[in-house]
Amino acid sequence: MLKSIYHKDKTFTLGILGGGQLAKMLALAGYRLGLNIAIIEKEEQSPAGDMTKLDFPKGWNNEEELNNFIQVSDLVTLENEFIDPEIIEKIEEHRNVYPSSKTVRLVQDKFIQKSTFKEAGIAVPEFQLIQKFEDIIEFTSKFGFPAVIKSRKFGYDGYGNATVFNEDEAKTAIQRFSLNEQRKDVYIESFVDFTKELAVMVVRNKAGETAVYPCVETIQYRHICHSVIAPAEIDEKLRNQAKEIAVACVEAIHGIGIFGIELFLTKDKKILVNEIAPRPHNSGHYTIEACYTSQFENCIRAVCDLPLGSTNMITPAAVMINLLGTRDGIGIPASVIDVLRHSKVHLHLYNKKNSRIGRKMGHITALGSTQTEAYNRAKSAADAIEW
Ligand code: ADP
Repeated sequence: MLKSIYHKDKTFTLGILGGGQLAKMLALAGYRLGLNIAIIEKEEQSPAGDMTKLDFPKGWNNEEELNNFIQVSDLVTLENEFIDPEIIEKIEEHRNVYPSSKTVRLVQDKFIQKSTFKEAGIAVPEFQLIQKFEDIIEFTSKFGFPAVIKSRKFGYDGYGNATVFNEDEAKTAIQRFSLNEQRKDVYIESFVDFTKELAVMVVRNKAGETAVYPCVETIQYRHICHSVIAPAEIDEKLRNQAKEIAVACVEAIHGIGIFGIELFLTKDKKILVNEIAPRPHNSGHYTIEACYTSQFENCIRAVCDLPLGSTNMITPAAVMINLLGTRDGIGIPASVIDVLRHSKVHLHLYNKKNSRIGRKMGHITALGSTQTEAYNRAKSAADAIEW
C-alpha cells in the first residue's frame, strides 16, 4: 500500500465524506503530500468542496453522486461520524474506508460507545439506557442528581445534552427530546464534577501501530469548545495515564485513522472517558503549528498506510482559541488585519458562507514558552477579531 499511493500512473485521490473545516484542513495536508482530494457534502461551495474540482455537492444520499464520488476516489475517509453506516458499507464494497463502518457503528450511538468502553475495562461515568421515565428514577435513586440526559445519536456542541437537577427537569428534557426525530433515543449518565476536561489525539494505522499526541486541556463554554491548552498543566503521571486510556479506547473500537478522546479529570484524580471522535478533532488543531506532524497529516498517513509522523511538540506550549460566530449572517469577519500584526499567532478562517451564534468560523493558535504566554497571545489576537 505504501508504494501504491505514490507509484500509480495517476495521482492518488483521497475521498472525504464531509466538506467542513476538518475536511478543509485534511485537504490542505493532503495536497502538500501530493494527493488529490474529492469531497462529498450536501452543500454547494462547502469550505472543502470549494478547494477541489472533484466536488460532489449533492451529498451521499444521492446514489448517482455517491457513485461518481466512489469512482474518482482511491480510498475514503470521513470528517464526521453522523453518516449512516450503511452508506459507508456501500462504499466499502468498492473502496477501503477508514475509519470503517464497523468503527462508526461502535461510535455513532453514544450508548453503544460507552458500553463498548465499559466492556473493555475503560472507566466511564455511570450510565443507563432510558426507555421509560421510571428508568430515570431508578438511575437517579442510585446515583443522584444532577444527571445528564444525552441523545444516543447526532449530538454535537451540546445539542443533544440536558443537565437535569430534579425529576421535573428530567421530564421536561425527555419531552423535548421526544419531539426531535434524530435525537429522541436517549440515555442518562451521572454528572461528573470534573476539575478539568482533557483530550488526547491518537493516530493508529492498519497494522495497529499508534502514535499519541500530548494530553491537552479543553475549556468548554456552553458545551462548545472555547480553547485548548497544550500540554495540559497536570502532572506527568496523569498525562501518561490519559494517553494510555486514549489508546485503549481506539483499540476497543478497532480504529484506523485519527481519533480525539475527550476525558474528565475528577477531584480525586480519576480519569473518566466522555467520548471519542473518529476523525480530526478540535482539540488537535494546535498540532498544525505546534507539533512536528499535524493531526491532519497523521490522519492521512494512517489511512494511506504511510509511516506515522512524530506527535511531539516543537514548542513548549500552545493555545488554540476557537473563533465562534457572534451573530447570524454572512461568514466574513469584519476585520482580521489586527490579528495578523501579532507574532507567534496563526489565524485560520474556514470560509463558511454563513455565520451563526456559536458556530465555529475559524480558530487562532498561538505558541509560547509557557501556557500563560501562549494563552495571552491567543486571547489578545482573538479579541481583535469581529464577526
Ligand atoms: P457533544 O457531543 O455535544 O460535544 P458531550 O457529551 O461531549 O457532547 O458534552 C459536551 C460538554 O458537556 C462536555 O465537554 C462537558 O463540558 C459537558 N458534559 C458532558 N457530559 C457530562 C457529564 N456526564 N458530566 C458533566 N459534564 C458533562
